[in-house]
Amino acid sequence: MQGILTKIVKVGLITERVKPYTDDELEHTGTALKAHIDRRFAGSLTIRQLDAGSCNGCELEIHALNNAFYDIERFGVHFVASPRHADVLLVTGPVSRHMQVAALRVYTATPDPKWVVAVGTCAADGGEFGVSYASCGAVSNVLPVDAVIPGCPPTPLALLKGLLTLIRRR
Ligand code: SF4
Repeated sequence: MQGILTKIVKVGLITERVKPYTDDELEHTGTALKAHIDRRFAGSLTIRQLDAGSCNGCELEIHALNNAFYDIERFGVHFVASPRHADVLLVTGPVSRHMQVAALRVYTATPDPKWVVAVGTCAADGGEFGVSYASCGAVSNVLPVDAVIPGCPPTPLALLKGLLTLIRRR
């Protein structure tokens, strides 16, 4: 033990220091979003994410919003486990036929006033999957959509910008 401690003291810190990194566009967008949320939602906007048939690419980008870099909670945006606690439904994927009823139930369970945001190309217009025996296509074919965030998949920054656009115009 003594030998290890001596070695630690002698060698010191050998890892490289990480330079602080900030993304100005992210900070600017997040700060603007927070200002609107503070003013109109008492500091807290809640989101329930609904995967209606996605390939999970969109989910990876949505999950990234909660990582240490984006840390969306600092801007007052919180993901919740139940639609009953949500202001916004973020819906991904084309709506598969199997998810059609579930999507309608989630929508009904979300209290008014609520917004539905279609996330990704598939949610916007059905994408590669279109409308078929297995797919209802665009989210708007099943639910009233208030905003669309395009991309395959949209980046976390695009998601933040889409939320800002939605909240600004409502
Ligand atoms: S938009 Fe792209 S990433 Fe998102 S569900 Fe469709 S194929 Fe997957």
